[in-house]
Amino acid sequence: MKTWEEVLFKAKEVATSAGRKAKDVADVAKLKLKILENEKAINTAMEALGHLLYDSRKESAELNEELVQELIAQVDELETANEQLRAEIDNACSRKTCGACGAVNDADATYCNKCGKELD
Ligand SMILES: [Zn+2]
Repeated sequence: MKTWEEVLFKAKEVATSAGRKAKDVADVAKLKLKILENEKAINTAMEALGHLLYDSRKESAELNEELVQELIAQVDELETANEQLRAEIDNACSRKTCGACGAVNDADATYCNKCGKELD
């Protein structure tokens, strides 16, 4: 026979876990949005790099080396940020993303189920 204490404890436990899950889902959605924003910024920077190169070749104008370096640094920074964001999502979802091919593996996987690379 259940005591009131037990019933209350169970109800509290369910409420807590439901709350935690909802928060995780919201967090993951936020992280995914941030990745998309970063990807957009990466594409913009890549496009700018392409335009700079095109103009310098087409018009025989001088390539703005400083701007090129700045854009490359920006892309690298955004790529690194996205790697960290993906790792955070993996943590929240208890899984591992392969660094080589991008396949999603279970958290306890040692090797990638797609390409066989050893996972961190
Ligand atoms: Zn892989």
